Amino acid sequence: MAILVKTEQAEVTIVKEYVNDVFEQVKKRNPNEVEFHQAVKEVFDSLIPVLTKNTKYIHHGILERIVEPERMISFRVPWVDDQGNVKVNRGFRVQYNSAIGPYKGGLRFHPSVNASIIKFLGFEQIFKNALTGQPIGGGKGGADFDPKGKSDGEIMRFTQSFMTELSKYIGPDTDIPAGDIGVGAREIGYLFGQYKKIRGGYEAGVLTGKGVGYGGSLGRKEATGYGTVYFVDEMLKDKGLSFSGSTVIVSGSGNVSIYAIEKAVQLGAKVVACSDSSGYIYDKNGINLDTVKQLKEVEYKRISEYVNHHPEAEYHEGCAGIWSIPCDIALPCATQNEIDEAAAKQLVANNVKAIGEGANMPSTLEAISVFLENDVLFGPAKAANAGGVSVSALEMAQNSGRISWSFEDVDNKLQEIMKDIYESSKRSAAEYDVPGNFIVGANISGFTKVADAMISQGVI
Ligand code: NDP
Repeated sequence: MAILVKTEQAEVTIVKEYVNDVFEQVKKRNPNEVEFHQAVKEVFDSLIPVLTKNTKYIHHGILERIVEPERMISFRVPWVDDQGNVKVNRGFRVQYNSAIGPYKGGLRFHPSVNASIIKFLGFEQIFKNALTGQPIGGGKGGADFDPKGKSDGEIMRFTQSFMTELSKYIGPDTDIPAGDIGVGAREIGYLFGQYKKIRGGYEAGVLTGKGVGYGGSLGRKEATGYGTVYFVDEMLKDKGLSFSGSTVIVSGSGNVSIYAIEKAVQLGAKVVACSDSSGYIYDKNGINLDTVKQLKEVEYKRISEYVNHHPEAEYHEGCAGIWSIPCDIALPCATQNEIDEAAAKQLVANNVKAIGEGANMPSTLEAISVFLENDVLFGPAKAANAGGVSVSALEMAQNSGRISWSFEDVDNKLQEIMKDIYESSKRSAAEYDVPGNFIVGANISGFTKVADAMISQGVI
């Protein structure tokens, strides 16, 4: 027995060294791409047990292949502003992995977008999409364009120019983009219009998140936020806890945040705070979601204006302070690395019970360690926010069948999918001796599905 244990330890050490070597290669080959390195590190660290048990993944060079995008496209996006000035932005699309289906993943318009951001998002998307159980590969895209303060005409001209180039690389059976930060219903409409004009045909399945009147799915708008709450609800139920009567904080006030708030409130929670990139509001009686929707979905205004409608609420400049508000459940739904180690410690000191990542990679690696060390239930992004892409896949299915399902049908399917994702993450975590660690569970579950398909398809 002692010899066996020693041998197993030796194997783990060899695998750790191998994983570290591949990771060092990633850093060397992709210098200065810190967000991408962070996403790879999180996945690699959690794969050590599965690689130790199944060395076929090492022999087939899966790690070396899976970190390298199948294709990375970068392009010029020229457009003219309202004053007649020529502007140039940079567009991206990473077609990361098509082992289990066509590339699928959103488009982000934000000034922070660069190759590192797009690659971290695309890399995570591979495993998330596999977890959904739908036949979709991983991709992501966007541009370093700032939609803030732009007129509707400027948004349309930029978006049309972006699609003029992107249209060469996408299609309903090859690559199907959707929304993300800065790309909502309005932008998807303009993108779809331009694609249709260029192609001269109605290929509804080329984009998801479309308006319901022209090929969109009921329930897509709500899917990511609702799905995050469904996932957290499963974690809570397993521990005899629930949203009912809980105090919740949701960062952001965009698509994911708004519908996370809506579902949490429907399940009996009180959501006391939300934010945008300028600051946060705190309404101790529970925030009024109708006001947030009007400000953000209709008027495209700042969250600070909330207090003009609800003088009893407080507005604070800066985003980090939101995590100092005591809560039972925290749902980071804005952007990457919004919870650092200090914020995580503050949440733990305030007795937080569960975290559900609605945004992609909102917690730093150090923050995650703080949550895990303190037994906080932790729903990682790949699993917790997979509801959006799941319903996107349902939108594709409806488009190819030329049918549309009711909101209830879609919502029921979403609930089933989120439950399945929870169960498979939980199962994998238990199988590899880290029960309750949904990061390891989700990564292993998504990875093995993609890796097995890659092995079947040969070295391509
Ligand atoms: P939106 O653009 O609709 O909303 C983003 C929200 O986050 C806004 O309130 C925005 O504030 C805030 N925000 C953006 N950048 C920052 C920043 N640097 N610091 C603080 N706050 C910021 O985007 P989504 O709701 O679609 O996306 C939010 C997150 O969820 C992203 O991480 C995205 O990748 C992820 N996600 C989205 C899915 C979807 O279906 N939409 C699916 C899965 C994941 P402001 O208005 O001031 O910019």
